[in-house]
Amino acid sequence: GAGAREIASLTPMMRQYLELKALHPDSVLFFRLGDFYEMFFEDAVKASELLQITLTARAKGADKVPMCGVPYHSARRYIARLIGEGLKVAICEQVEEPGSGPGIVRREVTRVITPGMVLDEEVLEPQASNFLAAVCWSERGWGAALLEASTGEFLALEAATVAELAESLSRVEPRELLVPVGQRNSAEIAQLCGRLSRTPAVAEGEAAAFEPTRAAGYLRSHFSVQSLSAFGLDDAPLATGAAGAALRYLKDTQKTAAAHVDRLSRQERAGNLLMDESSRANLEVLRSQRDGGRKGSLLGVLDRTVTSLGARKLARWLAAPLGSLPEVHARLDSVEELSARSVWREELATLLKEVGDLERLCGRLSLGAGNARDLRALGLSLAQLPRVGAALARCQSALLQSLAGPLGALPELAELLLRAVADEPPVTLKEGGMIRSGYHAELDKLVALSTSGKDVLLQVEQREKERTGISSLKVRYNKVFGYYLEVTKANLHLVPSDYIRKQTTVGAERFVTPELKEYEEQVLTAEERRCVLELQLFEELRAKVVAEAPRIRSAAEAVAAADALLSFARCAAEYGYTRPEVDASEVLSITAGRHPVVERMLGAGESFVPNDVRMDPEDAQLLVITGPNMAGKSTVMRQVALTALMAQAGSFVPAKSARIGLCDRIFTRVGAADNLARGQSTFMVEMTETSHILHHATRKSLIILDEIGRGTSTFDGLSIAWAVAEHLHDKVGARALFATHYHELVDLARERPKVKNLCIAVKEQGGKVIFLRKLVPGGASRSYGIEVAKLAGLPPEVVARARELLQNLESGELDDAGRPRVAVRQPARKGASTGQLGLFVAEPAPTLQPSGPSLSPAQQKVMDTL
Ligand code: ADP
Repeated sequence: GAGAREIASLTPMMRQYLELKALHPDSVLFFRLGDFYEMFFEDAVKASELLQITLTARAKGADKVPMCGVPYHSARRYIARLIGEGLKVAICEQVEEPGSGPGIVRREVTRVITPGMVLDEEVLEPQASNFLAAVCWSERGWGAALLEASTGEFLALEAATVAELAESLSRVEPRELLVPVGQRNSAEIAQLCGRLSRTPAVAEGEAAAFEPTRAAGYLRSHFSVQSLSAFGLDDAPLATGAAGAALRYLKDTQKTAAAHVDRLSRQERAGNLLMDESSRANLEVLRSQRDGGRKGSLLGVLDRTVTSLGARKLARWLAAPLGSLPEVHARLDSVEELSARSVWREELATLLKEVGDLERLCGRLSLGAGNARDLRALGLSLAQLPRVGAALARCQSALLQSLAGPLGALPELAELLLRAVADEPPVTLKEGGMIRSGYHAELDKLVALSTSGKDVLLQVEQREKERTGISSLKVRYNKVFGYYLEVTKANLHLVPSDYIRKQTTVGAERFVTPELKEYEEQVLTAEERRCVLELQLFEELRAKVVAEAPRIRSAAEAVAAADALLSFARCAAEYGYTRPEVDASEVLSITAGRHPVVERMLGAGESFVPNDVRMDPEDAQLLVITGPNMAGKSTVMRQVALTALMAQAGSFVPAKSARIGLCDRIFTRVGAADNLARGQSTFMVEMTETSHILHHATRKSLIILDEIGRGTSTFDGLSIAWAVAEHLHDKVGARALFATHYHELVDLARERPKVKNLCIAVKEQGGKVIFLRKLVPGGASRSYGIEVAKLAGLPPEVVARARELLQNLESGELDDAGRPRVAVRQPARKGASTGQLGLFVAEPAPTLQPSGPSLSPAQQKVMDTL
């Protein structure tokens, strides 16, 4: 910026720029200058780099001001890129016509676009929600509000811990966090962001806006209600504070009354299947871990929706599956009905395809950002609803039938919009052409006047040409003296005496006639009045839309749900899924189950090997799965979790049959590599997640633990894995799948009645390992680790040496009773190796015999007593 002394020496425009910039210090200011948005100073330096546009300089006295610009008609592209980088963009427009007042043109910031406050359809992703999350906290816990500016969706919630909060936020993957001023870099926010798979931009809002009493007043007046009890916020000061701040941020940045934000709901923790963020990421529910895209995720496979409303709804359903049986059954009934009728599915898909993004159209118009094209699109979409409703009404399923209700509610608005708005209206609001002829008598008259006026001017030109014999005579127009007749120098001698000379130019002279002036009056005023009237009619239509916003939103909800159910039904029919039996038991039994994503990713010639998994609280509560790396352990475990998740989201599942006792939570602890970026050690992350699971799991939970204890020495790891398994069996009683390369763990089944061993069969053929991918009872007898190492191309001499060492180890493997020597209660030792040396027995204690692989007789004794 510039100091006060310097400001005095600036041009008036630069002074205006700096004043506006001072009001928006944390935004990139797009300063409208004619056909460009210009950026100056640091903004210009930053933007030119990010946008790869040329940085120039504007002379400012002796100094030069860095500057760059983008054409206003292509600004959206550039704005999208800056938003994508987590920046805010303040749009500063000229708010009066140039030359209409003394001095420079007045300019104002008309809105601020932030990562969480985007309305532009060209910047928004149609299939993804774009949420802002306002967050605040106290010693009592956390409060948050989730606001989708483009649709008006508004949720508030409270959470006891940061983990719980992250769990709720991660369902909608907010793009931007709003925190009280001064908290952007606080430990709390760092903690929260560390738990979100997609790091949001962070903005700060006035601390006062978060203050509960003040926020409550603000919300009451916005919603025109006496109390917030209808929203369930009576006893939720933190949620109230966050909601107030979020709404204020929307109104401040968009300079609008935000009429489309017409309800606020409290998001309850109970009632849904819970999944923490790392579990959701591990299971690749919404995005793949490989590249963060939809492809390779469960959503990528199951999304066969045809509307963006449906696509967003489906993502929500998968992010937060249901926790109540009647709701699950209602969805399954609908899917069953549609999956059995391919003709209905096709019909419904064809009808739904014509429904536009009702939520965002309505949102844009409510925020004053829409145009006549939005009205037209809304009209077409609304007109389609009764047809969708009729298709749903003939279904048997109660849920599908109930969705038809809200679709019949808006025929008048649809009819009005289609009758009023032209087929192809312009983007702009001020140039007319928006309203259809026949809608408004006065407007029709003005249009006729201005077009007939133009015809008359052409007639004048023709007549004057004939009268004067000047074939090159033209009727032209300019802003200074309106319509005139132009005659070239060569023809001046033919000009009649009633022409009034106005101006001489290089090659011609310009004249007017009284008749010309009369028509000019007619054309110009009619044109002007037409534009004013059209704008007024547009505003009336927009007001009607805003008044119907709640009903439009209900209809949008119904369309979204119908489309999501249709998508489930299409998958069910086309991918060979079956209806799961979901009940209140603690059974989980899958016959011939497949992994929904892996089975779709296999190449030609490969086929997925289905597997059976049976868990029940009496005798198979904890399954220990052993098998060499690459055998398919993770795949089978994830497939079980995804099957349960799909069933509770209301989808059919990839299996011959499945019975799922309703789960309250799904926990997974798989791998740790992805957490390294968060700055904790792999092992620490692993243990933190494991402890979270042990603290929160119940009998109703489903737990997947893959290779727990891998990040530490063998003794440590095995001891921990063993103790965790015991705890899950003895205390928690949750259904758990436990994959491990410590096959010492198979011994747990002898001690604990509800533990079952499974392994993934492999076949050895000619010294090579063939993966059969088949889950069979019992523990793996060998690890085949060395074979896998060989497959991976380890040098032959290393493989040979490994075989030799293995034989040495194996010879000391069993004690007299034939039990493997497992040091399960051996405390963690200092200086233990962190490798995975012990394939079959615990690695020897280095304090006893650091270099040798086998144990001395004395050591043997010690081990045997353990
Ligand atoms: P592990 O966890 O035992 O190391 P994975 O579960 O990662 O093994 O499986 C390794 C690969 O084997 C996977 O990438 C997958 O493509 C393939 N695979 C696993 N299970 C099956 C199956 N049942 N049918 C076909 N291919 C499978």
